[in-house]
Amino acid sequence: MGIILSRLRRLLGRSSSAETAVPAQQQQPSAKSAESVESATTASKPSPTLSPAAKSPIHIAIVGSGIGGLSLAVGCLRNNVSFTIYESALQYSVIGAGVGLGPNALRAMALISPELRALYDTISSGNLSQDKLHVAMEAMYAEPGFGEKRGWTPQPFGAPCYERTSAHRADLLNILTSQVPKNAVQFNKRVTNIKQFPNEGRVELSFADGTTATATAVIGCDGVKGASRAVVLGPAGFPDEIAPVFAGKYAYRSIVPMAKAQEVLGAEYAGDAKCFNGPDVNVMTYPISSGTECNIVACKFTDKPWTHPLWTHRVTEEEVRADFADVDDRLVALIACAEPVQWALHHHIQTSVYYHGLVCLLGDSAHATTPHQASGAGMSIEDALILSHVLGAVEDWRELPAAFAAYDEVRRPRAQKIVRTSQELGAMYACQDPQYGDNMGKIVKNLNERFLWIWEHDLEADMATVRSRFQEARKGV
Ligand SMILES: Cc1cc2nc3c(=O)[nH]c(=O)nc-3n(C[C@H](O)[C@H](O)[C@H](O)COP(=O)(O)OP(=O)(O)OC[C@H]3O[C@@H](n4cnc5c(N)ncnc54)[C@H](O)[C@@H]3O)c2cc1C
Repeated sequence: MGIILSRLRRLLGRSSSAETAVPAQQQQPSAKSAESVESATTASKPSPTLSPAAKSPIHIAIVGSGIGGLSLAVGCLRNNVSFTIYESALQYSVIGAGVGLGPNALRAMALISPELRALYDTISSGNLSQDKLHVAMEAMYAEPGFGEKRGWTPQPFGAPCYERTSAHRADLLNILTSQVPKNAVQFNKRVTNIKQFPNEGRVELSFADGTTATATAVIGCDGVKGASRAVVLGPAGFPDEIAPVFAGKYAYRSIVPMAKAQEVLGAEYAGDAKCFNGPDVNVMTYPISSGTECNIVACKFTDKPWTHPLWTHRVTEEEVRADFADVDDRLVALIACAEPVQWALHHHIQTSVYYHGLVCLLGDSAHATTPHQASGAGMSIEDALILSHVLGAVEDWRELPAAFAAYDEVRRPRAQKIVRTSQELGAMYACQDPQYGDNMGKIVKNLNERFLWIWEHDLEADMATVRSRFQEARKGV
């Protein structure tokens, strides 16, 4: 019956075109009831076996337009799920940094939208050497000489299933936003409060500008510091898990022209992705922007707590150099090309549940991770695939908690394992894992094995599982 209903709904109630799948905007100066929004859409919806009062369509408020929120929006369009995005910034983010996506993330993207996946090929870059297609990175010592004195030469890690691709974040966001209708997004809407009325199938969002909006449910895609996390974990009984935890490291991030990187580092060490490791440091460099630019993430590990009130703050160039005092001068010179800004890295090492009632978490708001496995954005795309897929099967708001429970069951173990293992890998890179020390050969062996569970994961099986768990649970609704 679910299939018949959803076919009827598609035929009579919801168009599959991007322009019409997103209903008129619902944000207004004062709260308007969800019922009035819903009645506009239920008018055209037949209900052969259920009374209109028993069945109502859903309208999702997506909070945040980062990679997670936008991927979810594209997934919702594909699955005919009505939504509005509320973003606190005045426009889509133009943050300048690189992002690498593994084969799992790219499969998720293709399953969400083959067009999006095809667009990604137009903006992504691989290693510059043609024979390093399947090389994720080459492991190096960060010490002076890059390990040459020990007889170390760059050692690749990767896998046949892996193809190196990275992109400029601005380019990735551009292709995502190109898929989302303009009228589906409201900017300058900082969510300050989310109030649920679970028995009415209504959630009310309050914004910093004094306005409110209603929706059937909220998906918090508002990042590591997102407000939605408290709305889920507080009432669910895990208030201690709300605050992000300092991961014991900060990063200097920059993009420099590839020609400059090759001049500073030497042509043999720039161009293809590299991972420089040493006591308390890990520096990743990789090509983006069709190989014309080099992305740099230089991590400094510390056992001190993060005490600065801001997560990003400017330091002196001397402080940067002091952080990398034992590192090869060429690498220090490359790091010094960046603005001397420290980014404190925080994560959500423990998240016991991803939803409460009609509010659900996705992306960094659920499982912010350290960057060592280059998987945070990838996880948010996987989340978007699974959540939009199950939301596409929801026919009544009363079924939403069952859909969120199925999503939680499928996504949380995998995403939390990413957070945990990323932290472990950071320690290994920084030569802090006693089992590996600074034995780069052993580390590379581990690297060639440790990513396979991430890259080879069967997302289509997850799609089937989330649907079947949901179908089982909805029987009890
Ligand atoms: C140094 C570093 C390197 C990384 N490298 C990689 C990599 O190579 N590969 C990879 O897969 N991942 C990587 N990541 C992780 C990746 O960047 C994140 O996992 C990903 O960007 C998270 O996306 P998101 O949409 O969940 O959150 P965000 O990108 O943080 O988006 C959140 C959005 O919500 C908005 N927002 C916040 N609060 C509110 C509010 N109250 N109301 C309305 N809107 C709000 C924000 O303005 C923002 O637009 C890296 C992370 C770091 C720190």
